[in-house]
Amino acid sequence: MSTVFPEAAPADLATRLGSVRAGISDAARAAGRDPADITTIVVTKFHPLALIEELYALGVRNVGENRHQEAQAKAAELVDLDLVWHFVGQVQGKKARQVRAYADVIHSVDRASLVTALGSDESNIDCFIQVNLTDDAARGGVGPLDLPALVDKVLATPGLRLLGLMAVAPISVSEGPEEPRRAFARVRELSAQIRLQAPAATALSMGMSQDYAAAVLEGATHLRIGTAITGNRPVLG
Ligand SMILES: *Cc1c(COP(=O)(O)O)cnc(C)c1O
Repeated sequence: MSTVFPEAAPADLATRLGSVRAGISDAARAAGRDPADITTIVVTKFHPLALIEELYALGVRNVGENRHQEAQAKAAELVDLDLVWHFVGQVQGKKARQVRAYADVIHSVDRASLVTALGSDESNIDCFIQVNLTDDAARGGVGPLDLPALVDKVLATPGLRLLGLMAVAPISVSEGPEEPRRAFARVRELSAQIRLQAPAATALSMGMSQDYAAAVLEGATHLRIGTAITGNRPVLG
């Protein structure tokens, strides 16, 4: 018997993509929603360019990255593909203009100084404000109490178009199946509040590999899905 284990074949990628798409359709139907209203972003961080090309061949057009240098290099290499690049990681102020140059959508706007750094008089970029649902500031995102002021700041800054709110469900050891759904319900409530300030900011970027069905039930419009589609991320040395 062979002891050589081949790399995952593209067929496996197609199978995983297909089952996630089916899972999203099921969740949308259960929520009485049209699956076409949900954008699935495949998060390709740590994976090679070839994986993005395979995804493209399978019809994927929205990809997500969370590290600036990696994202910048990939977007430059694949500039000829008709891809929408979503930046989902924390943005350093001094890198903001560079991220803006290749990203189509930034999901992680979380502080006033970053809004200032991202502003532009020349062009518009779509963005989400990231909300932190935990007490741990290191996880990124603005706390719910500081959200209204940040919304005002984005609205007052030229060059940014606010699509809505982004969040990551908190990790909890005792997490039951209802946990992510409760977290996403909080984001939906915050979204209703900020629409009094920003009526056009209706989108909700929430839901990952483990919790996308719960996110769809709570109104997610943008899912950020990595491993359930790509397989495990290569471990970096
Ligand atoms: C990596 C990442 C994802 C995707 O995570 P999976 O669990 O692999 O689906 C989604 N959102 C953000 C912000 C990420 O960094």
